Amino acid sequence: MKVNLRDKVAGVVFGTAIGDALGYPVEFMSMPEIESLGRVKDYLCCEKIDGTLAAPYSDDTQMFRAVLEGLLKAGRSADLEQAALTVAGEFIKWSKSPENNRSPGNACMAGCRNLASGKYWRESGKPESGGCGSAMRSMAYGIWFWNEPKKAALWAGEHTLVTHGHPMARAGAAAVAAGTAYAVKDSEIDGLVRIMINAAKDYDASTSQMLEDSYTYAKDESVQAKDVLDKWRGWRGDEAVAASLFCVLRHPDDFEKAVLEAVNSPGDSDSLGAITGAMLGARVGIKGIRKDWIERIEKTNQLKELAERAFTTIEEKNIGGLQ
Ligand SMILES: [Mg+2]
Repeated sequence: MKVNLRDKVAGVVFGTAIGDALGYPVEFMSMPEIESLGRVKDYLCCEKIDGTLAAPYSDDTQMFRAVLEGLLKAGRSADLEQAALTVAGEFIKWSKSPENNRSPGNACMAGCRNLASGKYWRESGKPESGGCGSAMRSMAYGIWFWNEPKKAALWAGEHTLVTHGHPMARAGAAAVAAGTAYAVKDSEIDGLVRIMINAAKDYDASTSQMLEDSYTYAKDESVQAKDVLDKWRGWRGDEAVAASLFCVLRHPDDFEKAVLEAVNSPGDSDSLGAITGAMLGARVGIKGIRKDWIERIEKTNQLKELAERAFTTIEEKNIGGLQ
């Protein structure tokens, strides 16, 4: 079934937020602890947010929203430098917001503090920061450059410097952006894998090799998902993207199965959920995501509005493209 661009963009926005919200309560839990809860099958955590009972998402989705808002504010004609500055401004705003109380990563917060004190965006992240804090928000570039995956990868890899300087963080972010863009544009699986491997290779050969391994593991029926998700716990940028690709490849057309596999893992469950959810959402579109998950996610109307604004902005330049 062909999914139109509007539904795919909404699929990425909601896929990210829902995958993140499913994983958020179990982010720091071991597998025995998650098993003792009966595994994650639905939102575990609901609280009153803006007057309604909803499932909260974490800093991952907050930062993804900040990137997308920054890109929208900069506009379609902005170059990398202008857009990075606008995104950096959104990060500063987020870092000081009272809503920033969802276990934000140290590297992300340190980068924001440096930005706020006047440091240039390319120098605000620490060179040794290799966490997944940039990969988990880079699906925004996949939306923005949905028909140019290589450009999505370049902008994501560069913007990573705001908070993370290590090549594995930049490679992870580039691969997430390229993979999301490709999944919006095309449904072919080998092409998705190839474009992610190449995007990572531009920054870090080792991350690229892990994506190759992820593909090999997913094809091998003797490989158990639990072993792969134990090996790649996703705290690092390279592990997050390799583990998420593995979940996508195991369930390329089933949003629910893919994100539940990603979050029922002993590592960074919310980031794996967000990245897997973004790529699955891009493939199946909003209509392929459980309706009750869409209705019960935090700030669902704001997410709908954001997705619609992103869609109307990116489609103007792509008349004759995917429809
Ligand atoms: Mg998080």
